Amino acid sequence: MAYKRVLLKISGEQLAGKYDSGFDTEHAEWLAREVKKVVEKGQQVAIMVGGGNIVRGAQIAGHGIHRVTADHMGMLATMINALALTDVFENEGLKTRCLSNIFSDQVAEKFIHRLANKHFQKDRVVILAGGTGRPYVTTDTAAVNLALELDCDIVLKATKVDGVYDADPAKNSGAKKFESLTFQQAVENPSIKVMDKAALALAMEHGIPILIFDALKQGNIEAAIKGESVGTKIS
Ligand code: UDP
Repeated sequence: MAYKRVLLKISGEQLAGKYDSGFDTEHAEWLAREVKKVVEKGQQVAIMVGGGNIVRGAQIAGHGIHRVTADHMGMLATMINALALTDVFENEGLKTRCLSNIFSDQVAEKFIHRLANKHFQKDRVVILAGGTGRPYVTTDTAAVNLALELDCDIVLKATKVDGVYDADPAKNSGAKKFESLTFQQAVENPSIKVMDKAALALAMEHGIPILIFDALKQGNIEAAIKGESVGTKIS
C-alpha cells in the first residue's frame, strides 16, 4: 500500500448518514468494516471526528453565546461522535482508543503524542476527539495539525462527492472534476470550499498531501490508502 499511516477526517455530516442530524449507527458500522479491511493488512489509521451534525461553533455563536463557548460546544459535539464511533468500532472487532484534546478524564484518554504512537504500535485505531482543543478553528485544521503531529503520510478527507470540482456538482451538471491540484491552486481558488483554507495552508507549509474522496463508496478507503486514483489529491 502507498501509505502506512493515515489520518481519516470524517465530518459530522458523514456520521449523520441517512439522517439530517445525529448519529447513524448503521453507517458507522459500515465505516468500521471499511476501516477494518486496511487495519487487518497492517495499515495504521487515526480518525479525526467532526461535530457539524450536532453543533458548529460559527453557526451558533451570537445572541448571547460567545464564540469561544460556541466552539467549546462544537468540540464537545465531536466528543459525542467520537465516543459513539469508538464503541461501534470495538463492537465490529477493531481495537480502538479514543484520545481527546479537551480535558475529559472520565470519558476518554488524554491526547498525548507518545500514547497515540503506542496505540498505533498495538494495531489500534486512534479516534481523535475535541479537534485541536482550541476555539476559532475547525476539525479540518485539526485533522492536518494532528496528522503532522502523528507523522501520518496523508490526510484523507471523506466527502459525499468523489473529489474537488470547479462548481458544485449537485447544482451544476457541467461541473468538472480536478484529478489533482497543487496547494497553491486549492488555496487561491475561491470556489474550492471542500476544505478550510487554514487547513490547506498548514498542509502546504509542511508538505503533507490531502486526498478529497468519496468515502461512501465501498472499497474507497482501501483504494485511497493503496494510492489508487480515487478523488482529488492536493499536494
Ligand atoms: N472546533 C473547535 N476547535 C477545533 C475543532 C473544532 O473549536 O479544533 C469546534 C468548532 O466550533 C466547529 C465544531 O467544533 O465548528 C465542530 O467541528 P467541525 O465544524 O469541523 O465539524 P464538521 O464540519 O467536520 O462536522
